[in-house]
Amino acid sequence: MKIAIVGAGIAGIATAFELMEAGNEVRVFEQHRAAGEEASFAPSGLMWPCVINPWGASAFSQSLQLGMARPPFAELRAQGAVLSAPRRWARRQQAFAKKQRDAETLPALQALELLAMQRMQHVQELLDIGGQFSQGLLLPLRKEPGAAALYELTRRLSAAHVDYRRCNEAEARAIEPGLATDIQMACAIHLPEAWSGNGRLFSQGLLQAMQPHGLQLHTQHAVRSIHSTGSGVRLQLADSEQHFDAAVLCAGGDTNRLLRPLDVQLPSAAICSYSASIQISEESLAPRGSVIDLENSMILTRQGSRLRISGGAELGYPESAERMEEARHLLTSVLLEWFPGCIQPSQSILQMWRGTRLTVPDGLPVVGPSGIPGIWLNTAHGGYGWGLSMGCAHHLRQSLMGHSPTVDPQAFGLQRLR
Ligand SMILES: Cc1cc2nc3c(=O)[nH]c(=O)nc-3n(C[C@H](O)[C@H](O)[C@H](O)COP(=O)(O)OP(=O)(O)OC[C@H]3O[C@@H](n4cnc5c(N)ncnc54)[C@H](O)[C@@H]3O)c2cc1C
Repeated sequence: MKIAIVGAGIAGIATAFELMEAGNEVRVFEQHRAAGEEASFAPSGLMWPCVINPWGASAFSQSLQLGMARPPFAELRAQGAVLSAPRRWARRQQAFAKKQRDAETLPALQALELLAMQRMQHVQELLDIGGQFSQGLLLPLRKEPGAAALYELTRRLSAAHVDYRRCNEAEARAIEPGLATDIQMACAIHLPEAWSGNGRLFSQGLLQAMQPHGLQLHTQHAVRSIHSTGSGVRLQLADSEQHFDAAVLCAGGDTNRLLRPLDVQLPSAAICSYSASIQISEESLAPRGSVIDLENSMILTRQGSRLRISGGAELGYPESAERMEEARHLLTSVLLEWFPGCIQPSQSILQMWRGTRLTVPDGLPVVGPSGIPGIWLNTAHGGYGWGLSMGCAHHLRQSLMGHSPTVDPQAFGLQRLR
């Protein structure tokens, strides 16, 4: 088949790999000058396990709070000129969380993340692409969590077959020797097999590896609209029309704009978060793996000789220099609080970034048919888009090629949101 992919973020690139491997002729259309300029630019990098991601499906993040009083930056902050839209979305999300909890979403997510890791391993065996991967994740807890909350967290980890260990302070410091000596910890949870990596580096590597094999990437080619013709699809570009057997929308935050004329509803919200990337100046005092500050909902990952710290969740706020500065200040102060020796206090940030996570109310990705013949979706990955990228792409490949699915298609289909 001749297949078009709209969007060259991590989802589009992973989908291109899967569809090419299945023997299709694939063209990727990207509106920017380069791939990975939107949500895939500088995510935190957490890949596995999703169950620990504080920005995951709402039910997970709620129960991961462990009863702590959380500062405002850790919560979803909503406002907007048209206030009702974000508020409506937030209400819907709460209703979903209440109704579903994680009884339905958790097993589906686990199956998808297992598939994602298997496919990532497959890509690595085939192509050996760099991704500044690092192993191990620590959740240091300053206060003793309530027994019920801790039980809930460990129940989720066990249910997801995640190896974890509860550590005392001395053990946590042996795992992360750079942890500030003046921070007192009640305990910590260590996940020795957790993974993180640099999604942008990986996706650039994957793209380069595919181009000699026939992948065509058309940058600076914004798709204006997309139409089903019955026998295929037609893409409207600025100066041409192109015909394909099928098209996959991996258009991140722009997906709704393309779906609207087709009368397809994707109930989603664009939640903005921030990340700061900083060069390590003292290796021995830097985190060795990832660290999650649950109180602040911040994720700290190791990306080669750099650190990346991310946090914040905003709905309906425009980008502003003031908010960027506030985020910079909060992210660096949390980093310096946990790992004071690894960077100089006056050190400047290499890269400060604000990105958008397109999220649907249950927090799971939307992968599968759009309901319009020939038009497929791989989008709205929320806080999981990098970690699940190869799993979502493989699931899309199975649906599009008519193969039996490894994961439950209902759990990720658009239909579930109606
Ligand atoms: C601060 C932050 C931290 C994060 N941390 C993590 C993490 O730790 N782990 C994790 O798994 N995920 C994380 N995420 C989420 C992850 O980054 C996203 O889910 C993922 O990057 C989404 O990829 P995508 O390809 O769907 O979207 P995008 O990267 O946004 O790609 C969409 C692409 O489509 C292009 N496009 C859109 N419309 C058109 C059009 N009409 N024509 C042509 N091109 C078009 C865009 O230009 C863009 O390049 C984080 C996100 C943020 C913001």
